[in-house]
Amino acid sequence: MDIQAPGNQPGKIVVVGSLNADLTIYTERLPEPGETLHGEGFTVNPGGKSANQAVAAGKLGADVSLVGAVGRDANGTMLLESCAAANVDVSHVHQVPGVETGVAVVTVDASAENTIVISAGANGTLSPGDVAEAGAAFEGAAVLCLCLEVDLDTVEAAAKAGAEAGATVLLNLSPYAPIRPSLAALSDVLLVNAHEASQFLDGEQIPGPDAEAPAWEPVLRHLVARGLPSAVVTLGADGSVVLDSRAEAGKRIVRIAPTRVDAVDTTGAGDAFTGGLAARLAAGDPLAEAAAFASVGAALATTKKGTQAAYPDASAVFARLK
Ligand code: ADP
Repeated sequence: MDIQAPGNQPGKIVVVGSLNADLTIYTERLPEPGETLHGEGFTVNPGGKSANQAVAAGKLGADVSLVGAVGRDANGTMLLESCAAANVDVSHVHQVPGVETGVAVVTVDASAENTIVISAGANGTLSPGDVAEAGAAFEGAAVLCLCLEVDLDTVEAAAKAGAEAGATVLLNLSPYAPIRPSLAALSDVLLVNAHEASQFLDGEQIPGPDAEAPAWEPVLRHLVARGLPSAVVTLGADGSVVLDSRAEAGKRIVRIAPTRVDAVDTTGAGDAFTGGLAARLAAGDPLAEAAAFASVGAALATTKKGTQAAYPDASAVFARLK
C-alpha cells in the first residue's frame, strides 16, 4: 500500500542534510564517564538524521529527494545504497573526495535508551552552493525537511529555497542549537523532542507526561513569540503534542496518545516520526492527522533493532492506526 490515497497527486518531499554511518554497540546499561563496559555486539548501519528521514518517507511510498554529502568510502556507498533501496533520489548527494563519510557512535542499553556522538565528516562540506546546485530538486516540492547536523548557513539557504518553492518547511531543531530569527521566519513547523523542547524554552519547564492540552498553552505562546506558527514536540513513549497557532480555536493544541509497543531500540524514532509526518503532509493531511500517523510509524520503528531497516511501510502503519 502506498502513502497516497488513490487518485491523489503525490506531493514531493525534499530532505536537505546529513548522512551518517551508525556504529552501534548494545549494552546492558549506558556507561558512566570514565567507565568501560562489555557490549553485546557491534553493527554498522546506515543513519544520519536526514538520510533516516528520507528513507522513512521513501519506505512509506512518498516521492523523496535527498540533498547531502558523503565521502568516497565504504560507508558512503552503504548509505547511498540504503537510500536507493527505499526509492529515495540520491542524484543530489555529492561523493566528496578526500573526506570521510560522517559517523555516529551509538550505545543502546537494555531499556532501549541511547547515547549518540556524531562526527560530521563529509556532512561538514555541504554548503549553500550545493543547495543552489540542487535547485531542480526544489521545483514543485510540497514539503522540505531540515535538521541541524549540517552547517546553519546551508540549512538557512535550503529553508529559503523551500519557502520560495511554496513547500511546508519542517525544521528539526536537532542537535539543539539556538534558532536564528531569520531561520524561524522561513520555517512552518518546528520538530523537537522533550529534551530539545526544554532547551528551546530556555529554562521554562515542559509539562509532564500526563499533562492535558491546556498545560501546553505557555509553550505555544513561546513559539509564536519566536516567530514559529506551529510545532510538534515528541515525548518518546509518552507520544507527542501538536501546537498549531493557525488551527481553529479549540484545536490549537492536540495531544497524541502513545502507541503501546515493546520497544527494543529507540534510535532514529524521531527521524521515523519526521519522515512519516512529511509523507502525510505531502499527501495533504492537516498537521495533527499527519502527526497521529507519524506517531504510529515511529512506535513501530522502535520494535526492531537499527534505524532505517526498522522503518515500517505504509500498510503496517495504516493497519495499526485503525
Ligand atoms: P527522538 O528519537 O528524537 O529522541 P522521541 O524519543 O521523542 O524522539 O521519539 C519520537 C517518537 O517515536 C515519539 O513521539 C513516539 O511517537 C515514538 N516513540 C519513541 N519511543 C517510543 C516507545 N518506547 N514507545 C512508543 N513510541 C515511541
